[in-house]
Amino acid sequence: MKVAYLGLGIMGSAMAANLARAGHQVRAWNRSPDRPGSAGVAEAGAVISSSLEDAVSDSDFIFTCLSDIPDVQQVLVGPGGVLEHAKAGAVVIDMSTIGPRAARELSSQLSNGGLRFLDAPVTGGDIGARAGTLTIMVGGEATDLDECRPLLEVIGKSVIHCGTVGSGQCVKLCNQVLCAVNMLSVSEAFVLADHLGVDRQLILEVCGSGAGGSWALSNLGQRIVNHDFAPAFMIKHILKDLRLVDESIPSFADLLPATALAEELFKLVARQDSEAGNELGTQAMILAYSKRR
Ligand code: NAP
Repeated sequence: MKVAYLGLGIMGSAMAANLARAGHQVRAWNRSPDRPGSAGVAEAGAVISSSLEDAVSDSDFIFTCLSDIPDVQQVLVGPGGVLEHAKAGAVVIDMSTIGPRAARELSSQLSNGGLRFLDAPVTGGDIGARAGTLTIMVGGEATDLDECRPLLEVIGKSVIHCGTVGSGQCVKLCNQVLCAVNMLSVSEAFVLADHLGVDRQLILEVCGSGAGGSWALSNLGQRIVNHDFAPAFMIKHILKDLRLVDESIPSFADLLPATALAEELFKLVARQDSEAGNELGTQAMILAYSKRR
């Protein structure tokens, strides 16, 4: 299948490489040509396009995995973007996390220009993106999803139709509340272990397989034990996701107090080293506990 992949960051580069490895004709584009992920995508067999136009103009399926709402708007409907250069009837599949309202607006703008749209945010982290085992939450027309399914099944092990356009984003925001609060619980279990003189590695081994276990504990807990705060999922992105949650309900702190506390702790870490904390992985939440004392 003829596929364009726009955005070769941590997640997009892994997904584009998997599509190319599966034998699809992938033309991949990234705003900054020197992005490290591009080399791996080329090695996997994709063509690296020097312009967005070159990537999309002959593609039937156009994937995006970009940072925030203004970025996706710029790439899809801004000047020189997908709406100007894609061929009529192409399906745009946005895998970024941008919330339901932006997804619905984009869908309507693209549909007025003769393009189809699915919101398809993902969960499973950098590990799942590389392994092709992501969970993909899809909103939009079931018939459009049927056409894209062979591609999505290369990227993810679980492709779920959540409902009309925007509903994939709604489910994703619920998932982000789980991620934020799970990180809070992992951090607090480790802080308690330190106070009780229990080795953090023992917590991983014992609690990881019990009722207190979670993806966050097994994967991000191990990174904390290894003092590895490099990003898989950056703090700036979870803060963006919690902002999207805040924008979608009337009273964030009243309705979701634990999520609001998680946000506060992420913000503490984000501000450290002249905002460089934004670029750390979400497991760096634990650093906030030493700052609060
Ligand atoms: P990332 O590594 O920071 O990559 C972001 C990508 O977006 C880069 O390719 C960047 O290009 C591009 N971009 C940003 N603004 C742009 C613009 N205005 N025009 C064109 N390109 C632009 O982020 P990521 O971790 O892959 O995350 C991408 C999306 O997936 C986010 O919405 C995130 O919330 C979501 N997500 C991430 C994870 C995870 O574990 N990392 C998991 C699930 C979902 P440049 O290289 O030019 O900056």
